[in-house]
Amino acid sequence: MNDYLEKVLDETAKKNETQPEFLQAVHEVLTSIEPVIAQHDEYENIALLERMIEPERVILFRVPWINDAGKVIVNRGYRVQYNSLLGPYKGGLRFHPSVNLSIMKFLGFEQIFKNALTGLPIGGAKGGSDFDPKGKSDNEIMRFCQSFMTELYRHIGQDVDVPAGDIGVGGREIGYLFGQYKRIRNAYEGGVLTGKDVVYGGSLARKEATGYGLMFFMREMLGAHNICLMGKTVTISGSGNVAIYACEKAQSMGAKVVAMSDSNGCIYDENGIDLDCVKEIKEVNRGRIKEYLECHQNAKYIEKSGIENPVWTIKTDIALPCATQNELIIEDAKNLVANGVIAVGEGANMPCSEEATKYLQEHKVLVAPAKASNAGGVATSAIEMSQNSMRFYHTFEEVEAKLDTIMTNIFKACKEASDEFGLNDNYVAGANIAAFKKLAQAMKAQGIV
Ligand code: NDP
Repeated sequence: MNDYLEKVLDETAKKNETQPEFLQAVHEVLTSIEPVIAQHDEYENIALLERMIEPERVILFRVPWINDAGKVIVNRGYRVQYNSLLGPYKGGLRFHPSVNLSIMKFLGFEQIFKNALTGLPIGGAKGGSDFDPKGKSDNEIMRFCQSFMTELYRHIGQDVDVPAGDIGVGGREIGYLFGQYKRIRNAYEGGVLTGKDVVYGGSLARKEATGYGLMFFMREMLGAHNICLMGKTVTISGSGNVAIYACEKAQSMGAKVVAMSDSNGCIYDENGIDLDCVKEIKEVNRGRIKEYLECHQNAKYIEKSGIENPVWTIKTDIALPCATQNELIIEDAKNLVANGVIAVGEGANMPCSEEATKYLQEHKVLVAPAKASNAGGVATSAIEMSQNSMRFYHTFEEVEAKLDTIMTNIFKACKEASDEFGLNDNYVAGANIAAFKKLAQAMKAQGIV
C-alpha cells in the first residue's frame, strides 16, 4: 500500500479506536482511492487526507424532554459538521437508539463524498439522537423534537447547515423541528431544513427521491451491462422511506418485488408485494411488517433470528439493502450468490460490510455503492433548497426529471472513474475516486483551512 495512505490509516485507527463504523467507512474510501493518491505526492505535504478525515466541527448536546407519564428523559443530540468545501453542511438527522459518535461520523464522512457526486453545491454533515421514536405518542415526538431544536437552532441556517430526515425522522418530525426553529428565530427561513411537507415549502418528489434515485442508478448500471430490469425479481430490506419508494419505482419499471422487511423479520409474497398494503401499515399505522399477513394469507413471514438476515436467503435477481449499516454481511452475500443474484443496489448507507462487498464483486455481482446510488435523496433536498431560495415550486415531473438526470450522471462518473483506472466495473471504487478528485481539487484551491 502507498506509504502516505498507510500512515494516515494507522493514525486514524489509533485516534478513533472506539469508532468501528467510522473506521470502516474511512478504510473503504482510502483503500479504493489508492491509484489517485499514487499520482499525487503533493497531497502528503498539505495533509490533504488528514484534513478530509477530521470533521470541521462536532456538536454534542443534552436533549431533556418530558414523556406522557410526566417523567423527565435525557437523550443525547449530535451534529457533525463534517465538511463545507462545496457548500453549506448538508445531511440528515437520525433518531434511533443505536446512534453514537461512531455512527454519526461514519454517516457524515460518507455524506461528503455523496454530496460531491451529486454535482450540487452542498457540503457534508450528519446528526441525530439516541432517542427511540418507536412506541412514542405524537405529543412525545413533538416535545422531543422541540427540545432537540432548542439547542440545534444556533448551529444551523439555510447558508450554514441544512439538516433533513434519515432513520426515524420523516415528514412528521421535520414539521415539528421546523415549527420550533421558526418560532425561535422569528423568521421564515424555508431552506433551513429539507424533507418538509409540500404545503409549507417542501419539494414534490423529495419523499420518493432516494428510492426512485436508487432505481434510476440501477437501471443505468444494468443497462451498461445490457441487462434489462423488466421481469427481474427484487428483494428489499427495510420498509421505511427508502425501501417503499425503491419498491414503487422497481414495480413501475416492470420488476417484481417479492420481499420486504423490518427489524423483526421479513415478508415474502411470491405474487409480488402489495405496496399499498405496506404503505398503510408503515406510513399510516406505523405498524410492523408482519401485519402484511392479515391481508395476504398466502404470504410468508420469516422472523429474524441468528446471524443471517432472512431477506437475503430468498432467491432474487436484484437485492436492495435499504434498512441500515452492515445489514448485509458475508454470510448474506454467500446466500445471495448461491441463489444467483445479478446486482446489489445499496439504498441504505454502508449496508454491505467490506467483506460482503468484496465477495459479491469477486463473484461478478454488480454492486451499486450507497454514496452514489442513494444520492437521489440529498440531490432532491438541494433542489428543495433552490426552490425555497427562488420562492417557487417545480412540478413533480420536473423534479423527477432532474433527479433522473442527476442519477444518470452519477452513474457515468462512477463508470468513467472505474474505466480510467482499469478497475473492471468496480463502481464502489469508481464512486469514491470520482468524489475524491472533486473534493481534492476544492481543497487545494481553498488553502490550508
Ligand atoms: P426509515 O426510518 O424510514 O426506515 C428504516 C427501515 O429500516 C425500517 O423498516 C426499519 O425497521 C429498518 N431498520 C432500521 N434499523 C434497523 C436495524 N438496526 N436492523 C434492521 N432493520 C432496521 O429510514 P429511511 O428509509 O429514511 O433510511 C433507511 C436507510 O437509508 C438508512 O441507512 C439511511 O441512512 C439511508 N438513507 C436515507 C435517505 C432518505 O432520504 N431517507 C437518503 C439516503 C440514505 P424498524 O421500523 O423495525 O426499525
